[in-house]
Amino acid sequence: MNSNLKDELKAAGKRMTRTRRAVLNILETSKYPLSPTELYAMLQKDNVAIDLVTVYRNLTALKELGLVTQLELHQEGQFRYEIKEGREHHHHIRCKNCGRIVDLLLCPLKKLTALIEQETRFIVGDHSLEFSGWCPKCQ
Ligand SMILES: [Zn+2]
Ligand SMILES: [Zn+2]
Ligand SMILES: [Zn+2]
Repeated sequence: MNSNLKDELKAAGKRMTRTRRAVLNILETSKYPLSPTELYAMLQKDNVAIDLVTVYRNLTALKELGLVTQLELHQEGQFRYEIKEGREHHHHIRCKNCGRIVDLLLCPLKKLTALIEQETRFIVGDHSLEFSGWCPKCQ
């Protein structure tokens, strides 16, 4: 884990537990947002002694600390988590067949946002945009 994250955790006055560190490490290296059950399976593979309830609890704590982002993809019915540090606002694409998710490290909506603000005089806070389709394996 990079030292920035550790500093942030310290600054937040939370004890850096071993499990929390393990959770962060996995999220840091993952290329797509993980569900608690996927994370749990990965922790078990790494021989981290943890139960699913503790995984949920850790994720909630990390979310409250502002270290991870929680997202819910359309028609999945579960939350996923990804590390916040080093990742700007972005979107996702999900395979309709196998459920594979890929980070789209871009946002094409800046112009549209400006237009909406102009038209409606709203100040746009956030937006959601999600793609789905068929991954190379499922085509
Ligand atoms: Zn697929
Ligand atoms: Zn993502
Ligand atoms: Zn966006």
